[in-house]
Amino acid sequence: MFSCNSLYLLTFTYYLKLILAILMTIVPIFLLERIFIRIIQYKYKKHRLDKFIIKKEFKNFVYIIVIFTLAYTLHTALNKENNVCYIYASKDVIKEYRTTYYALKDEKINNNDKYAYLENILLTSYNDISNENTLNNNEKDDNNNQTTQIKNEVEDNFLKESDSTKLNNVYVQNGVFYYPKYVYGNRSTYSGTSCPSNPLKQGYNNPYGYNNYFYTRLTKFVEEASKNGYKITISTQGCRTYETQIYYYNTMTRGRAAYPGYSLHGFGIASDLEFYKSDGSVCPYGRTDYSCPSMGWAHKNAYKFGLTFPLLNASYKEDWHIEPINKSTY
Ligand SMILES: [Zn+2]
Repeated sequence: MFSCNSLYLLTFTYYLKLILAILMTIVPIFLLERIFIRIIQYKYKKHRLDKFIIKKEFKNFVYIIVIFTLAYTLHTALNKENNVCYIYASKDVIKEYRTTYYALKDEKINNNDKYAYLENILLTSYNDISNENTLNNNEKDDNNNQTTQIKNEVEDNFLKESDSTKLNNVYVQNGVFYYPKYVYGNRSTYSGTSCPSNPLKQGYNNPYGYNNYFYTRLTKFVEEASKNGYKITISTQGCRTYETQIYYYNTMTRGRAAYPGYSLHGFGIASDLEFYKSDGSVCPYGRTDYSCPSMGWAHKNAYKFGLTFPLLNASYKEDWHIEPINKSTY
């Protein structure tokens, strides 16, 4: 994994990405439009297109192709899965990185911690997409002591649950949560339809009705936060019914709530957390990992408990939404 834990490198990569995007879209369109307009003008003014003009405009057209091809080639070369720097150098990530960078600048924290804190901003974005690879690639990078230490820590906390009993449609194998693939029209595969169908609450017999394995991870995580002096609470709605999801979908801003049938809340394997400040008040929205240290801790340490925050860089950022890291449909 190629990281870029430096504000300058990150900013440079972001602008490079932006320039390449402009060279691949706006520039060619703009130039093509100009060629088009010029040809039209020649045609109407001179009533003919002489060879010289056609040659000139053709030359301009070749330039466009060359610019596009070069930009596209460079973009493709950089946009590789292991190039975290290029993939995640987005406006949001830079903004958060910059805020945290300046907030930490004059703080009396040792440099390693600062570095770890900043890297976490990139890491959480990275984990969202390829978390499974990161955790499963145990064979790689083992010479790095720190990596090994983190991995052991994860292994200790990462419950290797295995239970193939499909309760409320979810089963767990080697720590991976399996849930049914949404099939349009097949109600039994919709998330949320099985929530109330287990009257004994078997597999879901915890205070809020989460999947038990997920609940165990959540409580371990919240307890560890508490030990470190951070207050975090989980939502009291452990399993969200299909009907509730429909209600959310229809009443919330589009894009905010998942399409009914898709939400992992409906399988009891997602939770919305509440983060608290040290004075006991709830961290207000618009918070950052730094302005809300309990959230900072959560985002940084969730993976050690087999948990992840997948919506940190979504169009509707949900810094409170937590899920198991390893999950798959069946
Ligand atoms: Zn949620």
